[in-house]
Amino acid sequence: MSIQTNWQKLYETALDKSFPALESIPGVIFGFHSTIDGLKRVVPEEIEKVLKENPALEEEVSRRLGTLPAEIRTPADLLVGLASSLQRGKALQLMIREEAVYQWVMDNLGYDQIRMGGTSGNMTNFMAPLPLSQILVYANPLTKEQAELFVDSENLFVINQDGELEHPHKAWRGEGIFAIHWIFEYPKGLKLKIGDKVLESPRANRFIAAWNPINNKLQIEANFQKCLPRLLPDFSHFVVSGFHILSENYPDGTTWLDYLRPVAQFLRELKKEHSHLRFHYEFASIASGAIRKGIVDYILPTVDSLGLNEVELCAILRDRGEDDLAQEVENHTSLVPVLRALERLADSTGLRRIQLHDLGYYLTLVDADYASGEQTRDAMLFAATLAASRSTIGRVGTPEEIRGGLDVPMAEQLFPLMAELAQELEQEKFMETGIAAKNGRNIILVPTKIVAKPVLTVGLGDLISSSSFILG
Ligand code: ADP
Repeated sequence: MSIQTNWQKLYETALDKSFPALESIPGVIFGFHSTIDGLKRVVPEEIEKVLKENPALEEEVSRRLGTLPAEIRTPADLLVGLASSLQRGKALQLMIREEAVYQWVMDNLGYDQIRMGGTSGNMTNFMAPLPLSQILVYANPLTKEQAELFVDSENLFVINQDGELEHPHKAWRGEGIFAIHWIFEYPKGLKLKIGDKVLESPRANRFIAAWNPINNKLQIEANFQKCLPRLLPDFSHFVVSGFHILSENYPDGTTWLDYLRPVAQFLRELKKEHSHLRFHYEFASIASGAIRKGIVDYILPTVDSLGLNEVELCAILRDRGEDDLAQEVENHTSLVPVLRALERLADSTGLRRIQLHDLGYYLTLVDADYASGEQTRDAMLFAATLAASRSTIGRVGTPEEIRGGLDVPMAEQLFPLMAELAQELEQEKFMETGIAAKNGRNIILVPTKIVAKPVLTVGLGDLISSSSFILG
């Protein structure tokens, strides 16, 4: 049997086992960040009109071109940020600090369309079509506008004001948009005139301006904190994410640490009281090195499992001064340094499970007493099938549509790298099984499927990590 046929068979068997396994999972919780994304195409005429009507604003933006504000306190800050992102074709995210600016953007630019935002809100909508019996999501404030962005699925709940589980479509209170993350998208070659200068975007990208006064300190709503513990016996998995919303410093003089500590404390207490619950933290790209280190120091020791991509792994390595290893990982020529990096991270944090996803493979390290190699591998193969089908059709579909992911070709280029790792690990069967044992841990590597022309890739990493954590 060829190696490809061997893996295709493993894929098929894993998928057959996964649907019944998902049905038997008691319940999954996603916290702590759901929000509203306001998509807005950058229309130069609109911005030029606003500037023309306000010469003082135009003068200030013009004068400040080439600089970058740390946060947005005035309309000029917003336009300077947008201009900077557009001019360099680089993604940029800044927090809006003043309500007056939020109002100004609403009045002057508005949005084309709103959609679900925030890692927890997104993961919930991705996972709801799967045969999971219950999903609880944290969303605050849950106004009608936010609630309507959740999919209409019977297994989806929030905690309502009475402390009970209720579908967000029924549990919402009040109307209005109190938090919005504007995503200003621009195509390649877009020309924007500011003063006597014409800026042109070298490539398509986006500028995000986020107004989220309630969540940007990651303070968990009191009712949720109070009512959650009573409900926990009915749940088995807790996926934590969204910490990238923290700022290093706040206008009131507080810092990220003032808010990270209480969340870590909350998680620690939940874990102590409900030892059956398994916690996963999904790393997102965080620009601040201080916050990144804070998460490694305060949050990782409170969770069982971590999900991350290769860019995030390298950032963590560099924060620790392991620049050479980060460079080796970035070279993408061998998986040996990737494994070494994950082993060091597991050793230093005590994490019981770490899963890395990259284009073409997922690599997981898991304590032998946490989960078997086979269960972990099958969950990873299910995640890869799910990711392939979602990239192909643009959504998580029916079980039949998910099965379509099996037809996507495998990343063949992975096999030589896998052979090298098998030799390094001295485990003959590794090529066939993807499973090796070392130092009380299972090491699992799977070649994934790659969709040549994906319809949608945003949030794929979240989908891969959460589905393999829940099943594994
Ligand atoms: P996000 O931040 O959008 O969730 P990540 O960068 O964390 O994304 O993860 C994206 C992952 O999606 C990659 O590591 C890879 O495993 C997978 N992926 C990306 N493009 C494709 C594709 N065309 N086909 C299959 N999987 C893909």
